[in-house]
This record gives sequence, C-alpha cells and structure tokens, in this order.
Amino acid sequence: MEDAKEHHHIVMLPFTAQGHLIPFLALANQIHQNFGFKITIATTPLNILYLSSTIANNSTIPSPKINLHQLPFNSSDHNLPPNTENTESLPLNQIVNLFHATTSLESPFRALISDISIEDGRPPLCIISDVFTGWANDVAKSCNTVNVTFTTGGAYGTAAYVSLWQHLPHNSTNKDEFTLPGFPDSCTFHITQLHPFLRAANVEEIEPFGLDVFRNYTKLPVWCIGPLLPPIMLSGKKTSRVIGRHTGKEPGVSPEQCIEWLECNPERSVLYISFGSQNTISSSQMMELAMGLEDSKRAFIWAIRPPVGFNSKSEFKSEWLPKGFEERMANTKQGLIIHKWAPQLEILCHKSTGAFLSHCGWNSTMESLSQGVPIIGWPLAAEQGYNSKMLMEEMGVCVELTRGVQSSISRDGVKKVIEMVMGEGSKGEEMKKKAGEIGELIRGAVIEEGSHKGSSLKAMDEFVNALLSNIQ
Ligand code: UDP
Repeated sequence: MEDAKEHHHIVMLPFTAQGHLIPFLALANQIHQNFGFKITIATTPLNILYLSSTIANNSTIPSPKINLHQLPFNSSDHNLPPNTENTESLPLNQIVNLFHATTSLESPFRALISDISIEDGRPPLCIISDVFTGWANDVAKSCNTVNVTFTTGGAYGTAAYVSLWQHLPHNSTNKDEFTLPGFPDSCTFHITQLHPFLRAANVEEIEPFGLDVFRNYTKLPVWCIGPLLPPIMLSGKKTSRVIGRHTGKEPGVSPEQCIEWLECNPERSVLYISFGSQNTISSSQMMELAMGLEDSKRAFIWAIRPPVGFNSKSEFKSEWLPKGFEERMANTKQGLIIHKWAPQLEILCHKSTGAFLSHCGWNSTMESLSQGVPIIGWPLAAEQGYNSKMLMEEMGVCVELTRGVQSSISRDGVKKVIEMVMGEGSKGEEMKKKAGEIGELIRGAVIEEGSHKGSSLKAMDEFVNALLSNIQ
C-alpha cells in the first residue's frame, strides 16, 4: 500500500441532498485518513457552503486534503425556485426537477476531471459518484478512469430499487401486492412501498439478506463500508456530550440545550420524532400526531417543519398544531419542539431516548440502530418503504405507524403504537433487545483489535486494493 499515499486522487460527486452530502463527506474523510489519498468533492455553490462549514467546524476533517470544487449551477435554468440547489426546500413532486437539473453538471464535471488529469499527470484513481448521477459513468469511461457508485442507503432498499428500475414500467401493475425479480417469491411488496426513485450499502453483518439479493441480482462487486458515524457514537456507551456534527444548517436548538432537556427525563423514556432533512407530513396527519403524543403522556422531542403544501422554510404557524399545544408542551415539559435543524446525533446517543419515530431514511436508521434505539416507522419517499419493511421483517426492530402523506392516522393509533414500543409489553422489549444486538454488530464492523479487523475496515482495504490493482 506504500504507493497508495498522497499521489492518488479520488473525485467524489454526491447528489445534492443533506442525506447524501453527510455520508459522502464521512467516506471522503475515512478514505483520506486510512490511505492518505487526496480527495476532491465536486458539487454546486450552496452545497459547497454546507460542506465547507462542516469541515471548518470539525477538527477531524483535514482541509485542504479534502478539496471542494464548485460546479456552476443556476436553478432558474431548470424550473426550480430561485437558489434551489438542494432537496431541503423542495416539495417532493419537484425533486424530479433537481434530478434533471443535475445532469447540467456533466460538462463542468468533465472539465474538472480533465484539469485534474493534466495537473496530476494522470487521471484520478476513480470517481465515486452518487447512485443518482449515473452520467458520471460516461465521464469516467471517456476520461480513462473508473466509476464506483456510492449508495447512501441499505442493501435491501437498493436491491428493490435496482430490480424495479430494470423492470420498468411498473405503474401498469393493477395489483396492490407484487413480487420483485431477484427477491424470493415469498417476499411480497405492497404498492404503498413504491417510490419511483433509486439508491446501497453499509454494514455487511446486519443486512445479509439484502446483500445476498443485491449481489446475486446485480452481479457487481459490492463493498460494505460503514457505519460512517463519528467515533463517539461507536463506543457502545451512551453519552451526554456534544458530538457537534456541523452541517451548515441553522440549528433550531443548540445541542447543549437539547442535552439539558434530555437529562431531566428518565432512561429510555423519550420518543424522538423526525422525518429527515427534507420530508414532512400532511396537516391532518400533523394534527393527529400531536394529539396522540399528548394523549400518550410520554416525553418527546419533535423536529417539526411546515406540513405538505407549505414552503418548508416559511415561519411555522401555531394553527398547524392543536390549540395551545406548543405552550402546553413547553409548560409541562412533556415535549421539546424543534423548528429547523435538530441535533439528531446528540438526541439518539442520549440514554433518555427510548424510541425514534422516523421516516426510515438510511442515515437516520443507522444512527438510531447504532445506539440500540428501536424505530416506529413512517416511510414517506425514496427507498424508505423498503427500509421500513426490512427493519420489520428481517431485523424485528420496527413497527410501522403508517406510510406516506395520503394516509389517515388517528390519535388513538398514535398512542397505541407508542405504548407498544415504549411500554412494558413484550413487543417493545423484544424490539429494544434486537436493536441493541444490531447496534453491537454495527460497532463490530469498525473494530480493529490486533490483527482482527471489522468487516467495514476489511471492505475498505479490499476496495482500495481493487482500485490500485486496476491501474497496475
Ligand atoms: N438530520 C439532522 N437534523 C435534522 C434532520 C436531519 O441532524 O433536523 C440529519 C440526520 O441525522 C441524518 C440526515 O440528516 O444524518 C438525514 O438523512 P436520512 O438518510 O435519514 O434522510 P433524508 O434526509 O435523506 O431523507
């Protein structure tokens, strides 16, 4: 591995969504720290701002070894609202415009690879691109380098996506239940788990079934690198410390305040609710969820944003919640409501957090399970429906409250599911136990003791060896 030091250069191209930028930067950092390669991440101006703020605030990320390269982008050329370069403020039905718009990055990205090839005297070792930027494969081929796809989701969800993608069109199906090529016939999917977009893989041990399907079906080499989480989250101990992952997003509450609030609650007694960096629920669902939470009498932290149909950056209106809800929750201390960005890592790592009502985005899933926190699933988009199915059927760490933004939920249904997961009953206990076991497997993947290396570290070595043997 001697010649693998700084001379090698890897270029990364994430999709422009927070749930993709975060793991891309973490992967860049791990590759640099383990192998000393120079890394360039190419993205649009606004996303460069997010990444540079993250790097500037994180002493473990080495700048300038991780270069940020700005690709020109003008949202108004692409039917997107002004200054839209990220999924964060886009309604779901407009995200497809962002997918189309990112194809305009091909030409400046090709120019970047050419410039690097001239400057370094050879092409980059590889281009690691997002599963949503398939055009990077053409760029890599024409620039004499290889393209590796980094998928920021799980193997199960990605296998389902790839299988769907290769058997389009699916909207001709008029059955609610269907099977997917590659998956066993006994594994039926439901129409409400479908989303027409595409995403893969972290830890080898926790997803044997999904990986098996994915490898057999795609016949591609797959390296399971991850969890890509800060080391403090992988100690196996709960923490009340500030983890301080900066993402350049405006915090709704500081990590310190959040920890202070959590400290006032007993162990495993708080429910955390968040639908990720870009999704939200309908106003009628929001109302029932709030009433169910209040009825449950359980403490909660809710990272909330305006309901579907309203600009996610607009001021939050009290009329979207039951009358006096926010004041009551603040006065009784039953609930901490966070507008804007929540310190999710600090919340999930704290001993008082007992369950996570989540949209089952893959980052949130890994963050929760690494801390042994079971999940109440409410998948909304992308591959979240498959993640939730896998978390229920393969791992047994999740129960689903509902799916999507069209469904109707009731306050009683909310209260019941919270009680099932957080109450004394056997289902909740079993989920907690299984989440704890999965947490251990996740930590084991990054352990290095003597000559023993966890599966993620081995996969990283194998990946780099494969790249290096390709250029010999
Ligand atoms: N996140 C956060 N605070 C928030 C919302 C999201 O820290 O208020 C982080 C969360 O910890 C995760 C990422 O944003 O790392 C969301 O990624 P995920 O794959 O779960 O969902 P997506 O946003 O891609 O739907």
